[in-house]
Amino acid sequence: MSAASPVAEERRVFRFAPSPNGLLHLGHAYSALLNHDLARAAGGAFLLRLEDIDRARCTPAFERRILDDLQWLGLGWDAAPRRQHEHFDDYATALDALQGEGLVYPGFMTRGETRAFASAFEEREGLPWPRDPDGAPLYPALDRDLGEAERRGRIAAGEPFAWRLDMGAALERLSAELAFEESGGGGREAVRADPALWGDVVLARFDTPTSYHLAVSVDDALQGVTDVVRGRDLLPSTSVHRLLQALLGLPVPRYHHHDLILGGDGRKLSKSRGDAAVRTLGEAGLTPEDIRRMVGLGLAPR
Ligand code: GLU
Repeated sequence: MSAASPVAEERRVFRFAPSPNGLLHLGHAYSALLNHDLARAAGGAFLLRLEDIDRARCTPAFERRILDDLQWLGLGWDAAPRRQHEHFDDYATALDALQGEGLVYPGFMTRGETRAFASAFEEREGLPWPRDPDGAPLYPALDRDLGEAERRGRIAAGEPFAWRLDMGAALERLSAELAFEESGGGGREAVRADPALWGDVVLARFDTPTSYHLAVSVDDALQGVTDVVRGRDLLPSTSVHRLLQALLGLPVPRYHHHDLILGGDGRKLSKSRGDAAVRTLGEAGLTPEDIRRMVGLGLAPR
């Protein structure tokens, strides 16, 4: 610990933010337990957030099972869980602010059209079309400069679209390079944010008033989260969150992207493949202490 600071110690706030679209697997259990243990060790708060903006895939039944599994693991949280679908107004307000700044436009190309555009480009030019850190082709932004009348006409005609951040315009607004504090590598380091890697990211869709990136940035601020502890797979996304924090004037938490728990085949665990659900392990007779050992954590802090 560094020398005593003259200002009051901040109360640290951690959160676990599962999506209730499947059962918790060992990777989620690790993340939840680690957040909880760190919060308790810091004398801080442990919050829960249900990232349920996808109304088709997230269900109350999965939510109940997740809360039950967390309780079975011995976890308690310090405030009522925040359900994102109950806060769509908060994300709409943030989106409005970015729209007011002229940083958002409706993109009408679907994912399939974007992939087809990228393949056609690659074939024609013999050059790779840029891809985001998840491997998806960047949005070509052919409709970034559509006239207002055409935009309105296509929206009024019921054409599906996504509200996209104009990444170039957003980056021009910044007065300095963006960075965030990361401790996932051991010590604390300042990591330069590189949101341009993602291109014109989706902030909301015509039928869903937010995206993961927008909701997570707004919620971490509204829940007063000081420490974001989550899997390493989300490290590249943090660049987008850092940009949204800068554009929306939100506080910047510290980040710790932890190692992922891998399956026996060395692959990342996946809900959709039904990997190692905590529930199945419990039903097979393992105890919460066994789960803690399996993910490499010691005894629960008291
Ligand atoms: N809802 C995300 C997930 O289940 C976690 C997002 C986050 O921790 O920022 O992977």
